[in-house]
Amino acid sequence: MSAQLIDGNALSSHWRADIAARAAELCAQGHAPGLAVIVVGDDPASAVYVRNKVRACEATGIRSVLERYPDTFTQAELLVRIAALNADPSVHGILVQMPLPRHIDPHKVIEAISQRKDVDGYSVQSAGELMTGLPGLRPCTPWGCMKLIESTGQPIAGRHAVVIGRSNTVGKPMALLLLQANASVTICHSGTPDLGLHARQADIVVVATGRRNTLRADMVKPGAVVIDVGINRREDGSLCGDVDFPSVSAVAGWITPVPGGVGPMTITMLLANTLQAAQQYALSA
Ligand code: NDP
Repeated sequence: MSAQLIDGNALSSHWRADIAARAAELCAQGHAPGLAVIVVGDDPASAVYVRNKVRACEATGIRSVLERYPDTFTQAELLVRIAALNADPSVHGILVQMPLPRHIDPHKVIEAISQRKDVDGYSVQSAGELMTGLPGLRPCTPWGCMKLIESTGQPIAGRHAVVIGRSNTVGKPMALLLLQANASVTICHSGTPDLGLHARQADIVVVATGRRNTLRADMVKPGAVVIDVGINRREDGSLCGDVDFPSVSAVAGWITPVPGGVGPMTITMLLANTLQAAQQYALSA
């Protein structure tokens, strides 16, 4: 392996220590930051993600409230809970874990969350703020990816970045954040005929497809920064990303592992957003 590992756990620890110190300051001022997490249904992956988020809150002094509902919970009932949390001054961030059961429209749910508490950064207004460069709550995963890229010390401005994947939660906001940092950005997706043609030109590649081996060594420019967002399970149950790690790490300059790369930074950025929302609340209280 020639690439340097970008350690998401180490970067997270650094960020979380700072978040914990700031959370303690807010607590001392009587504004203990609070995050409400709602889970509907019994998706096993969601249970793991939510547990990790709640533990991370506890470890940084952010109060967390976990509400679990059965998959018979109706959309109307969920909207009533969100309205109550919107009105609760001790709750500064509201996260509704996706995916939701099919009878619930995720867009209606996301738009029901108060803009000031949209710590996932998924609402249309948050997307608009990102698009126009206004301050606001940024989506946790792409924001975490930016911090991982910045941690390499490699310049972003003037570099060519290729984002593989165009979801509203990862690919599109990722591309916008890179653009804001003055990279020249190409977005690829399932309709891109020759991924390698684009990826090989990239100084920075972010892969978020949910498909193993989307990025292979022959698609990577030597020395590139490679960020692997994907979470997949191998046949033996172990986790892997979207990047063929063994071959790509022989060519890239920097690379994130899975697990231990983007995952911890996604949770860290959720904590950072909750802290930011609580700080804003404290300023206006
Ligand atoms: P989506 O399924 O919403 O989007 C996947 C995107 O990848 C789509 O834009 C799709 O294109 C594109 N795509 C799929 N196959 C290919 C291919 N063969 N070549 C090029 N593009 C392709 O997924 P998400 O964006 O939500 O998540 C992506 C991955 O990241 C998943 O594995 C998810 O679990 C993981 N993830 C990890 C997080 C973390 O904290 N580590 C957080 C969030 C997600 P098209 O639009 O044309 O269909």
